[in-house]
Amino acid sequence: MTETHCPYCSLQCGLRLQGRRTPEVSAWEEFPVNEGALCRKGWNAAGLVGHRERLTTPLLRDRATGELRPGSWDEALDLVADRLRGLRAEHGPDSVAVFGGGGLTNEKAYQLGKFARVALATSQIDYNGRWCMSSAATAGTRAFGLDRGLPFPLADVEQADVVVLVGSNLAETMPPAARHLDRLRERGGQVVVVDPRRTPTADRADLLVQPVPGTDLALALGVLHLLVAGGHVDNAYVAARTTGFEEVRRAVAAWWPERVERVTGVPVEELRALVRLLADAGRVMVLTARGAEQHSQGTDTVLAWINVALALGQCGTPYGGYGCLTGQGNGQGGREHGQKADQLPGYRMIDDPAAREHIAGVWGVPPESLPGRGRSAYELLDALGTDAGPKALLVLGSNVVVSAPNASHVTRRLEALDLLVVADLVLSETAALADVVLPVTQWAEETGTLTNLEGRVVLRQRALTPPDGVRSDLDVLHGLAERLGSPVPFGTDPEEVFAELGRASAGGKADYSGITYDRIRDEQGVFWPCPAPAHPGTPRMFLDSFATPDGRARFHVVEHRGAAEQPCGDFPVHLTTGRVLAQYQSGAQTRRVRALPDDGPYVELHPTLTRRMGVTDGEPVRVSTRRGTMTAPARVVATIRPDTAFVPFHWVGANRLTNDALDPSSRMPEFKVCAAAVEAVVST
Ligand code: SF4
Repeated sequence: MTETHCPYCSLQCGLRLQGRRTPEVSAWEEFPVNEGALCRKGWNAAGLVGHRERLTTPLLRDRATGELRPGSWDEALDLVADRLRGLRAEHGPDSVAVFGGGGLTNEKAYQLGKFARVALATSQIDYNGRWCMSSAATAGTRAFGLDRGLPFPLADVEQADVVVLVGSNLAETMPPAARHLDRLRERGGQVVVVDPRRTPTADRADLLVQPVPGTDLALALGVLHLLVAGGHVDNAYVAARTTGFEEVRRAVAAWWPERVERVTGVPVEELRALVRLLADAGRVMVLTARGAEQHSQGTDTVLAWINVALALGQCGTPYGGYGCLTGQGNGQGGREHGQKADQLPGYRMIDDPAAREHIAGVWGVPPESLPGRGRSAYELLDALGTDAGPKALLVLGSNVVVSAPNASHVTRRLEALDLLVVADLVLSETAALADVVLPVTQWAEETGTLTNLEGRVVLRQRALTPPDGVRSDLDVLHGLAERLGSPVPFGTDPEEVFAELGRASAGGKADYSGITYDRIRDEQGVFWPCPAPAHPGTPRMFLDSFATPDGRARFHVVEHRGAAEQPCGDFPVHLTTGRVLAQYQSGAQTRRVRALPDDGPYVELHPTLTRRMGVTDGEPVRVSTRRGTMTAPARVVATIRPDTAFVPFHWVGANRLTNDALDPSSRMPEFKVCAAAVEAVVST
């Protein structure tokens, strides 16, 4: 029996895995994050072990037939290395790009960043986490000097008096986390949910606020306006621990409640009720997730809610403050170790000379050999195959054909490449387009660390022997680096890679240098920063000071701009997308698990809308945007705004519709809202 962690979301629930041929999942009650609870994805986490669609041999595209055919590892890696060498010789190092994933272990994320900068010498690396939490990360860094999704353990939620969830459906996306809301309410605390849909999380709410999609920022401005007007600002805290409040106070003066109602659709009385709850509470927690963040004004939206939490005197105090509920399994760690276009390990900025010096020293290469800042995730994909863009792409842990915004366009860009290489466990939609597919290990067959949404570093332990023919991502990078003549070797032992990662992170903002595999096992996870072996780790951050140069948190003046696309005559409905309980991300894994219902895609619509269209539940509807069209059955629900349609994004289709407008700071695409037309499909 092995104690390990779920392969899916950022909660990283602990579980036990027993048996080899047909392993079974059982509860690990002692692990504090989930106390034995799992969602149905976790209970069925062994569903991909021994799956008939599992890849066990490299696949190479046959030039004559255009089909993928089996090949040996040597043949596949030799071919990839030869083609990469040729492209680099002809077009330079930036002609080769790397795309990573927020589900990769810390060790893989670290090694992938190093591989790009050292073995390929390319600046062209980014990852799908850019589409997950980058707006919250940018906002957190600006406000607090440091981005750690939750700067406190998740269980602290229970001790707050009021928790405001903005754009989070945690009861469905990470159900074990919902027990903290239940315990909070048992204690007499209250939950506010801000969401255009009445979700299973909203069913637990004392107050549900359903703004027009894309207007969360205006709502926060209105909340702060009323807090100021009612004298509810914690002036002593603001004076002692923050800067910039005066400018923000003046800016929100224009956001009187009637204006907020006009923009957000939230009735004035509801806004006042929300403010009364906040004003009367001692400890307030504001938590955002993708609903607030995946917007072209996502960074400013998060900053506006941080302003609210700061004005209430909550950030950096016990059981209060602001946090982001990261989504992907290693959404937190994935962004710390160098997969991002602008960062080196330890959250170091790539254009900081001191950071380059330090990392180059750990890697054993000259600092001047490290490339500079590359393109962000969507911009990288958008440039593929263009004259100035990369000609080859190596993808690890991502299925962009399903998960990228404006996905049909991204698919065309992938098809324009000279070489597409995808490492995956199954033939995902992206792997199916590849010239070379490399079959890699899955969660239970490899050891590695992940950092959950609380900043707790956990250890996923190998419980099963991988099938013959399958290699780990670390083996793939080792094999390619060797063939490419890398100036330094790439190790394949995860514990050794983790130790190097710790040295690279030392002195950085996300310092792992005091964490070891043994400590993680003994302590059931260690919170970063942990700068020394004797350091206890840091479950709660900012209690004494923030990570800014003067130790104070920053208020930011932000203005509501609205979504990049507004409903109009041709596209009169707001379209929003999101997750469902039984599926995870692009669905490449969970759609193949037989015990999980594969019942999508579908389109949630309010009865007011479907009556006008003459559509009943289950009948097909066509959803169109300026970028594409999809057809799926209607699900008629009274839980959504009448002006809004919802499509889950785990299946091909939803992201053919979504908007690739980017947040100017975080480069987050506007997944969460665009203008759409919905019509009945008339059978002929
Ligand atoms: Fe826990 Fe998330 Fe896995 Fe569900 S998917 S068991 S909530 S880690």
